[in-house]
Amino acid sequence: MTQTPLIFAALCDIAGKVRGKAFPADQLDKRLQRGLGWTPTNVQITCFDVIAESPFGALGDLLLIPDVDTLAETQFGDGAPTRLMLGDVTTLEGAPWDLCMRSALKGALARLHKAAGVHLIAAFEHEFQLKSPPALDHQAYGRGGFELQRDLCETLIAVLHGAGLEPDSIMKEYGPNQYEVVVGPAQGVRSADQAVILREFTRDTARSFGEEATFSPIRDTRSVGNGVHIHMSFVGDSGAPVTYNADGPCGMSAITDAFAAGVLKYMPSIVALTAPSVISYERLTPHRWSAAYNNLGFRDREASLRVCPVTAKDPASIARQFNIEYRAADAAASPYLALAAIVHAGCQGIEDGLTAPAPTEEDLSLLSPADLHARGFVRLPETLEAALDTFEADPVAKGWFPDSFAAVYRAHKNAEIAHLAEMDTPARCAAYEATY
Ligand code: GLU
Ligand code: MG
Repeated sequence: MTQTPLIFAALCDIAGKVRGKAFPADQLDKRLQRGLGWTPTNVQITCFDVIAESPFGALGDLLLIPDVDTLAETQFGDGAPTRLMLGDVTTLEGAPWDLCMRSALKGALARLHKAAGVHLIAAFEHEFQLKSPPALDHQAYGRGGFELQRDLCETLIAVLHGAGLEPDSIMKEYGPNQYEVVVGPAQGVRSADQAVILREFTRDTARSFGEEATFSPIRDTRSVGNGVHIHMSFVGDSGAPVTYNADGPCGMSAITDAFAAGVLKYMPSIVALTAPSVISYERLTPHRWSAAYNNLGFRDREASLRVCPVTAKDPASIARQFNIEYRAADAAASPYLALAAIVHAGCQGIEDGLTAPAPTEEDLSLLSPADLHARGFVRLPETLEAALDTFEADPVAKGWFPDSFAAVYRAHKNAEIAHLAEMDTPARCAAYEATY
């Protein structure tokens, strides 16, 4: 049988789903210019394929323009290669569409450069679980659990490397059948492209071994969740690192300090965008090493924003390695939207000259609400509805996005919430692990 090689041009939308259309690879030049037709109301397809109330109805036309620099290819066994290319959604006239998440991230990165003259370097650390029942119990960080899936892990690392990512490490995480895969950082929008490629190719790799991988925020509330931890640092126009200052608070430069302050201040407003599923709020609870308060941690895994340790010894390498980590994110979020929200919050901190509070070193869940308030901390929203309300009630955070965004996002999430309304928590977890 002859087969025509295809390229799948895709976006990762509000639902965090990767959707698109394939075209014959020999049409690439044409498609890079003319794109592929896309439909406005697709933005309201939830992760459960329910179409939320849409301001567009059946009307309108858009273009999905693939970005040639994002081409990621891989191949399993004797099968034909799979090719993925990510892109932007534009109007027919070529302007960025207001609800294109990749364009929203580009806007946030441009704001950062304008506010501080720096570029963002980011790395997404992903946790996922294999859905098959664990063949071995008690395998937290265990060699046995790793060894059981070593072929899958080695294949995944080769697949990611072949797709142009720089694999850093892979391990058997704490939870049942839970693994963590880390790739090296990349500049700007490329970091979020990499997160999309990693999620898709991890699922493909698992499938090629007869396994199903899920990045769902949490599978079982009696156990741990699957986080997406976003590591961030900054470089100037020359590429020189500007994140670190040995004399700054926790080693942060003035830019990092102000950026961190903005992220902490606006975190209650942006979790609706970075942890956007109903069950995300089962994960964002104390004592899960996720994120329950808007606190800064110095090497503290209960903090929502963490100053990470550096292993380098010489000053130049320390300056390059130094980074802060946003932990209140999960893979129900489009990496573009999550990172756009974090970068806007950080920019607000820089533009308003904020400084970060001192890092916490205690268990904040033991403080009374009054003590928490007195110390300037808040418990992050405890449900998706509360998170959405907090975002909508914050004119500053809402103002970072086009006028149409907040209402579209709310309608989208309302449809997702309604789909789960009659389900108990285990059924909700099951629904999410079937889609993420
Ligand atoms: N599984 C934890 C989370 O939900 C993170 C554990 C860790 O790697 O520190 O974010
Ligand atoms: Mg982990």
